[in-house]
Amino acid sequence: MRKVTLTFDNGPDPAVTPYVLDCLARRNLKTTFFVMGKKVVLPENAGVAKCARDAGHRIGNHTFSHSVPLGELDAEGAVDEFERTEKALGWLDQPVRLFRPYGRGGMLGPHLLHPALVERLRDGGYICVLWKAIAGDWKNPDTWVEKALADCRGEVWSLVVLHDIPSGAMRRLNEFLDRLQDEGVEFTQEYPPDCVPIAGGKVLLPIEPYCASH
Ligand SMILES: [Zn+2]
Repeated sequence: MRKVTLTFDNGPDPAVTPYVLDCLARRNLKTTFFVMGKKVVLPENAGVAKCARDAGHRIGNHTFSHSVPLGELDAEGAVDEFERTEKALGWLDQPVRLFRPYGRGGMLGPHLLHPALVERLRDGGYICVLWKAIAGDWKNPDTWVEKALADCRGEVWSLVVLHDIPSGAMRRLNEFLDRLQDEGVEFTQEYPPDCVPIAGGKVLLPIEPYCASH
């Protein structure tokens, strides 16, 4: 059976995330929300993230400003983007600690990580979650579903990256989930190993493709 992991990035957003949570709750699906520090630091947004946490979803760090890929910053700047978000998530009592870098348009490459941050993630026992295919929901809010379904059909275990932001794309979330269910996929909250370069205090995949050399 094909497996699908759902993740939602760049929130939380008080106008969109509650709707996403409702779509997921109806199907009893558990996912991960990778939040931006500068958003979750706002009390209203933190409340939304706490609702997600309380509903059984995981919350992960997706950098503070989400503006420059961390491999293009110096060590201090890269680690600061991570730590400021951890501080904003100080209320999060979650056994699994998660991080996803900012990709600039969903690109995978050595711009994603800085060696100083790789060390920090490894020492802290964080799970670093990357991605494979990107549906592009934020730029194609009306047509992303067909792309995402096609991507999932091509993988034994796919990881879907969607965005709980006001792009209009989440209007098709219910339909997307219905169609995946109709295709008989198994949903899981875990992450496919080929998307996890760092976990459990270890670097598990060759890191050079994802980490700048400084
Ligand atoms: Zn992002």
